[in-house]
Amino acid sequence: MSTTTISRASTERALELKESLTEVRTRVQQAISGKNKEAILVAVSKYKPASDVLACFEAGQLDFGENYVQELVDKAQQLPPSIRWHFIGTLQSNKAKVLASIPNLYTIQTVTSVKVAAALNKAIPAERSSPLNILLQVNTSGEDNKSGLPPLSVESESNVESELTQLARHIVSECPQLYLQGLMTIGSLTESLASTEKPNEDFERLCLTRDLLQQALVQAGLPPDGGKWGTDGKLLLSMGMSSDFEAALKAGSDVVRVGTSIFGSRPKKEITS
Ligand SMILES: *Cc1c(COP(=O)(O)O)cnc(C)c1O
Repeated sequence: MSTTTISRASTERALELKESLTEVRTRVQQAISGKNKEAILVAVSKYKPASDVLACFEAGQLDFGENYVQELVDKAQQLPPSIRWHFIGTLQSNKAKVLASIPNLYTIQTVTSVKVAAALNKAIPAERSSPLNILLQVNTSGEDNKSGLPPLSVESESNVESELTQLARHIVSECPQLYLQGLMTIGSLTESLASTEKPNEDFERLCLTRDLLQQALVQAGLPPDGGKWGTDGKLLLSMGMSSDFEAALKAGSDVVRVGTSIFGSRPKKEITS
């Protein structure tokens, strides 16, 4: 657990990271100005060395996101225990145990099945002090290469019966070690890149899905004041990446996941979850 053993970023790299972090933070603040709310900036450090994470941490960054279980496990072991780790990659239930054993894992943003939720709930070690925050991933763009459950829609009579609501109900009622915190989406990036003026339909779809899911939970006898889900009676929304986080914040996002704008570009080989 010692942080003294990991290699440190060069002075030049540390300064570069500090500057890009400051710039992204300023842009986040500008995008939420006048909204009377706070936003969580998750620095997405996948493929980047632990020394980069440490440099950002020392510049005041607390929240970091990772996509791969083993990479997260390795980094969490080397880096300060006060970091809040967010898992944002595709998760299979057979990896639940190793992930759940990370004491300072703060959220898993990509839960899409009862099977994974149940595996996580079971795998949380007894010594963990607070429930693990869970976000459900929604495939707002409907693209085949994105994971996530279908969004809810106003026309649908069966929002209470939908997969998303069923999963939310399962977590709230059957998983005492998990806390349903909100919803996450990636959305279609090409569209949001093209124009920041035009509202991104995927972001609007996630906002609507949140409202409908909240109604469905109330209908199912699970009101927010039971302290069983959300923050102050509302599910949080995690949406927005380097290319679209300002648009996402303007559309009502609470959590943005920014990698490239902080750490620079990554090797091309990756597949987005
Ligand atoms: C990689 C990744 C990000 C960060 O993407 P950037 O475009 O580099 O900001 C955000 N969310 C998810 C789910 C990712 O996989």
